[in-house]
Amino acid sequence: MLTVRNLQVRYGRSVAALHGIDLDVPDDGVLAVLGSNGAGKSTLLRTISGTLRMHRGTVVGGEIHYGDRRIDKLDPASIVGLGIVGVPEGRQIFARMTVDENLRAGAMGARSAQRRAAARERVHELFPVLAERARQRAGLLSGGEQQMLAIGRALMSGPRLLLLDEPSLGLAPKVVARIGEIIREIHAQGTAVVLVEQNAVMALQVADHAVVLEVGTVALSGSAAGLSESEEVQRLYLGGHAESDAAAQEEAAAARTQRAGRRGLSRWAG
Ligand code: ATP
Repeated sequence: MLTVRNLQVRYGRSVAALHGIDLDVPDDGVLAVLGSNGAGKSTLLRTISGTLRMHRGTVVGGEIHYGDRRIDKLDPASIVGLGIVGVPEGRQIFARMTVDENLRAGAMGARSAQRRAAARERVHELFPVLAERARQRAGLLSGGEQQMLAIGRALMSGPRLLLLDEPSLGLAPKVVARIGEIIREIHAQGTAVVLVEQNAVMALQVADHAVVLEVGTVALSGSAAGLSESEEVQRLYLGGHAESDAAAQEEAAAARTQRAGRRGLSRWAG
């Protein structure tokens, strides 16, 4: 669905944020993008969604193709028009507007009232709380509900590819688990997902494929099951969570067992 080739990105003159990224987002899966602070995860999403320039960033090399279309020179509105919709980090909802007004804002590009209604129905099925709170001001929702609203608003335009930037950030483990289930459900309904996460436990449970970024390069890439079992990922990304969230770790182990047949880890540069 989406191919990124030798992508190089800078901020201003001095900060080289991506140094030649290669990755593929398959039609049939959730791709997790892992990595520590500053690895370049948000920069990657900004570049795909065409919003890099708003952050004073520039693509200095490489290409991004969506199907057979080159998109790395398109503006954000054209990219949304192609069906690629992002949910940026930090739950950027319209706090003074109602829940329903937020959803309507996400459907501005919808071609007909019928499509808008169908999209709203889908969002309400995924997130019943957004139907219950339709007339409440969005700023009064809990953090988890605001994240659901941010994702719901993105779904209102009927995207083919959803870009999620750290949806688990600052949320309690139970809410994170629920968000993870919802991402699987969104994918099952036919929307591909790129999931940027620092919560590797959740991301590797939810994803089919994963890449690990290290200082602007792809350090590891493979199936989520394969990466979960790699010593490097266990040490760097899964170990820390074991102490703070033993239940999630247990679930991750169960998911790994289930996926044992689906391996395919490969080592890239770095
Ligand atoms: P985090 O998990 O902390 O959000 P990240 O993996 O998303 O990190 P990016 O935010 O993409 O990383 O940052 C990649 C590099 O680019 C870092 O060195 C960061 O300091 C730098 N950077 C990001 N945004 C800007 C900006 N607007 N101007 C200058 N440098 C930036």
